[in-house]
Amino acid sequence: MRSIILHGGAWDIPDDAVDNHHQGVLTAGAIGWDVLKQSGTALDAVELAIKQMEQDPTYDAGRGSFVNRIGEVEMDASIMDGRTFEVGAVAAVQNIFHPISLARRLMERSEHVLLVSEGAARFAREQGIAFCTPEDLLVGRELERWRQIRRIPGYSGKLAFSGAVEEPTHDPSLPGDTVGCVALDDRGNIAAGTSTGGTPNKYPGRVGDSPTIGSGTYALNSAGGASSTGWGEAIIKVVLAKTVVDGIELLGLNPGAAAERAISLLHHRADGYGGVIALDPHGRPGVAWNTPRMARAWMNDTMTEPFAAV
Ligand code: ASP
Repeated sequence: MRSIILHGGAWDIPDDAVDNHHQGVLTAGAIGWDVLKQSGTALDAVELAIKQMEQDPTYDAGRGSFVNRIGEVEMDASIMDGRTFEVGAVAAVQNIFHPISLARRLMERSEHVLLVSEGAARFAREQGIAFCTPEDLLVGRELERWRQIRRIPGYSGKLAFSGAVEEPTHDPSLPGDTVGCVALDDRGNIAAGTSTGGTPNKYPGRVGDSPTIGSGTYALNSAGGASSTGWGEAIIKVVLAKTVVDGIELLGLNPGAAAERAISLLHHRADGYGGVIALDPHGRPGVAWNTPRMARAWMNDTMTEPFAAV
């Protein structure tokens, strides 16, 4: 069975941003589904779907990314091939449109699995990846959010969408618009990927779960695949994506139950908020989140129309 599932962040997505989030995951899902329908690979479906969301300013990935503490965009991405068990990840990269493609290039053309910052940029240059300007990635909404944060006296990283400082640190209303995708192709191969601009006003060089294999992304043909979103500092502690896949493989749970269990662990063990999507080796989708909203979509051979919701 061919199958694809996507997410576009899990948080208190404001009412006026719901439509864009909904349309964005549908559009990206249609692009990925087209690849699968034409007998393309799960890897291509994941990369192309994520590229679409990276160029969509709705999301915190590629264009539209959050701004860090010194007013710069630093992005993270990872991809995993469940057929070969190969991975590629980049962190704190700047001035490129598609971090997911750089992560894939690293997976396919390097012996390393993770490159950061200047090293990732050097590799991108060697590979002929096109660079862009900071302005190409920065949108007015994020510049305004950043300015608002800078105006809050004593601000220490806790921002609700309203701009108010809130407790606790892992507040579910904290913005988080990371994108992710898991796909299964007609050869039974699973791939998963995740791309993000991280968290708003993060410290320069901060790396979250998204490029951390096992936390942000995981895929293994015989077990399943998953992609996470939410507060990375907590997600890393419970190794969220692999915890979902372990639930499928080792506990015999369906993907929905495995995702629910992993989110419950995120909540209870790490006081964390977020969401996760998954596919099992049969292509059955699963999703769970403990934030007010999560943007999600899926499509597979058992369906006549894609499902999408926020
Ligand atoms: N998980 C991402 C990070 O911590 C943020 C998000 O998903 O919204 O970098």
